[in-house]
Amino acid sequence: MNSIHHLRNIGIVAHIDAGKTTVTERLLYHAGELHKVGEVHDGAAEMDWMELEKERGITITAATTRLAWRDYDIQLIDTPGHVDFTMEVQRSLRVLDGAVVVFSAVDGVEPQSETVWRQADRFAVPRIAFVNKMDRIGADFDAVLEAMRKQLGARPAAVQLPLGAEDAFDGIIDLVRMRAARYSGELDGAGDWTDIPQEHLDDARAARQRLVETLAEVDDAIADCFLNDQEASADELADALRRACLKQGAVPVLCGAALRNKGVDKLLDAVVDYLPAPTDLPPVEGVDPTNASVRISRSPSAKDPLAALLFKVAVDRGRRLVYLRVMSGVVRAGDEVYNPRLDATERVARLFAMHSHKRERLTEAGPGSIVAATGLKLSATGDTLCPRDAPLLLESIDADEPVMSLAVEARSKADADKLELALGKLADEDPTVRVHEEEETGQTLIGGMGELHLDVLIERLRREFGLGVTVGKPRVVCRETVSATGEGKAHIERQMKDIELYGEAACRVEPAPRGDGVTVVSAVADEDSYPAGVIEAALAGLGGGVQSGPSGHPMTDLKVTLESVGFRELPDMLAGVRAAGVTAARRAVADAQPAVLEPVMSLEVVVPEDDLGAVIGDLQARRAQVLDIGWRQQLRLVDATVPLAAMFGYSTDLRSLTHGRATFSLHFHAFDTVER
Ligand code: GDP
Ligand code: MG
Repeated sequence: MNSIHHLRNIGIVAHIDAGKTTVTERLLYHAGELHKVGEVHDGAAEMDWMELEKERGITITAATTRLAWRDYDIQLIDTPGHVDFTMEVQRSLRVLDGAVVVFSAVDGVEPQSETVWRQADRFAVPRIAFVNKMDRIGADFDAVLEAMRKQLGARPAAVQLPLGAEDAFDGIIDLVRMRAARYSGELDGAGDWTDIPQEHLDDARAARQRLVETLAEVDDAIADCFLNDQEASADELADALRRACLKQGAVPVLCGAALRNKGVDKLLDAVVDYLPAPTDLPPVEGVDPTNASVRISRSPSAKDPLAALLFKVAVDRGRRLVYLRVMSGVVRAGDEVYNPRLDATERVARLFAMHSHKRERLTEAGPGSIVAATGLKLSATGDTLCPRDAPLLLESIDADEPVMSLAVEARSKADADKLELALGKLADEDPTVRVHEEEETGQTLIGGMGELHLDVLIERLRREFGLGVTVGKPRVVCRETVSATGEGKAHIERQMKDIELYGEAACRVEPAPRGDGVTVVSAVADEDSYPAGVIEAALAGLGGGVQSGPSGHPMTDLKVTLESVGFRELPDMLAGVRAAGVTAARRAVADAQPAVLEPVMSLEVVVPEDDLGAVIGDLQARRAQVLDIGWRQQLRLVDATVPLAAMFGYSTDLRSLTHGRATFSLHFHAFDTVER
């Protein structure tokens, strides 16, 4: 294991089909981790290890692996591109130090790349870009640079120029060291350095000048060179690129064709040269578990106490495997670790470095490591692990709320128990999966992020758990709110066996802004004159009363105010007050024009001009609100919001509507009222 300065934790992110899996595969191959190059379309790619991923040629679960390059260790996380799995991308970004963003030289900045870019902005992840598919017809390196500027607001710093394009693409020019590399196209060949061909020298000099100018905007040392008309040396330029990348002032951009094995070895160099070591990043911040206003920071040093973030749970060969990012300190196999959320200690049985789907046993893991551990039974995604005597809580990982659900039923009685167990495991692995039993029908509902997500879950029940299941139609998950102010009063006086209940409550409900959730407050005068617990019991009752609305959906975006409360000093005084609170809140909701909220998505469609009319017409039929129709290079870009319920089967419909020439991206926007 190399020192921490020689460690790079990186992810590869991209729009689906940009070539992320192919790039990953080639990186592994060059670093000697793979002995055979597996083509993604053959279903043989090493990183897409789940059978299902192989079949569909897509990446669903983020698998981690590591490789050695020069005298560096590169830990790699493969992340999925489909929007249903953005949480996988998000949590990966939390534990990465840097990212390689892959763009297609033909398609440029596609909607999903934009989403991922914004997520990486949010987590302040330094990035380099790889413009892939330079061998394809229509490949245009400069257009991608321009799109990065315009669409992403990025400052691209091209550190290479392509040699030739499309069929004739056969190498790159390194603008930092002013040299060229040509590739034979053999899958195991690296590009040896040679002189820049005479006929490309002028272009290369001009491009280097542009690189210097770009860096001068963000780096003082280069700005000085530039102002004094001095030529920056190769080392000065490389150092400035690293500084600019780390502080996210500029994005070094490379190019290549992963499928033809061109440029990928230079990408490995760039990962090492420009992306951060764990020590290059600011110390990680957390809070004191007993007092969230006390901030605690930990340096990426083995001397600091342990702070590790549990970012993923997987079930592998029946065993629970948790993925940890060690932020500071050292964790050893056999260690007892403290989980402040649970206020409990768990034992790490074994530690592994993960090579795709294979593992290597470790005795310990230091700062910056990404490792898998067995033995932790209760700790969940987003939890912090630390010593009991030096506790802290790192920011957790937010799981998005499910927007779609599906009823499942076991085909046989024998499978029914197994189904419950299997669903528990799936929900444990993936926090965006929710399982619950619907009271009225007794049906088991699985909640998830979209059609594909639910589809994959059902497939996994069938294959991994061997379960025969019948499934219902996917339905959207709804919420309820109130659209006006309402009042509710309750007077409860009940005699049940030997319990006597008495309580009175009055409250008001009113709408709150979208996304605010539910707040319950008291406006009772002279609260101190009430016996202990009475006000709290009434508030708890109000909270219970607005848990679900008249149509049975969870309520959100409203405020409940307790106005008065009445009690009798009986043995079950608090239960009586609570019951009155529940009833008063329900009555207030009924009085306040309750309304059902549906998941509304924001949608972007990129479509050729010729098909624009058809796409818009179809969207209108789906009750979409078209917000903007703009341009993306030669294509039209439609921005809209649309109820998720109207989007079932959209990918198929859009394909047939446009002969496969349109692409789209769909994200959760808000729970909102929609017109029928
Ligand atoms: P991902 O969805 O981003 O993981 O993309 P994949 O790696 O699965 O690649 C998508 C498709 O593009 C596959 O059919 C690849 O063979 C193809 N592909 C990837 N890289 C290149 C490239 O450099 N040139 C060409 N022509 N095709 C590529
Ligand atoms: Mg892939």
